[in-house]
Amino acid sequence: MASVLIALGGNVGDVRGTFRKAISNICGMAQAALLARSSDYATPPWGDEQQDPFINAAIEIETALDPHALLFTLHKIEKKFGRDRAQERRWGPRTLDLDIIAYGDEEFATPDLTVPHPRLFERAFVLVPLAEIAPDRLIAGQTPRTALAGLSAEGITRLDDLM
Ligand code: ATP
Ligand code: MG
Ligand code: MG
Repeated sequence: MASVLIALGGNVGDVRGTFRKAISNICGMAQAALLARSSDYATPPWGDEQQDPFINAAIEIETALDPHALLFTLHKIEKKFGRDRAQERRWGPRTLDLDIIAYGDEEFATPDLTVPHPRLFERAFVLVPLAEIAPDRLIAGQTPRTALAGLSAEGITRLDDLM
């Protein structure tokens, strides 16, 4: 079993409702236990500023799926919640993005999967939720807490828990 960090994001539709259902799908389809779930955060769009703000969150799961099988499962769940990569632009609006941030302490790059996620340390919208659930986890020699200290988290706000 591996401890895996997954980043969730989206800015189309009822994103918080999508997160709730997607997390339950991840646990079911990846035979995973949910170890931690961050709050939801409203975040300014990144990479393409001409779009609505995003909601972001992070979870930690424990799964027996290998990294590629997990990615395949996450893509199926994105699709189930309306993600259509064929119709979107890079870093543009989407219902649901599920990225593998870290898989155990593995480090590898293949054509369709790089772990840890290659843009993790540039992104406060990933690091802020991560710092809530795994502030001191060592990921490629850094921790979310220390990585965040060097970035601006301006515009990122924690949302109240849903009832
Ligand atoms: P970014 O990767 O910059 O966050 P994105 O999440 O918008 O961009 P997607 O369209 O969701 O990009 O994914 C593009 C491809 O990235 C996927 O088809 C997948 O094969 C690949 N990929 C590589 N590494 C990872 C990873 N760690 N987690 C998720 N997808 C990954
Ligand atoms: Mg992404
Ligand atoms: Mg993605």
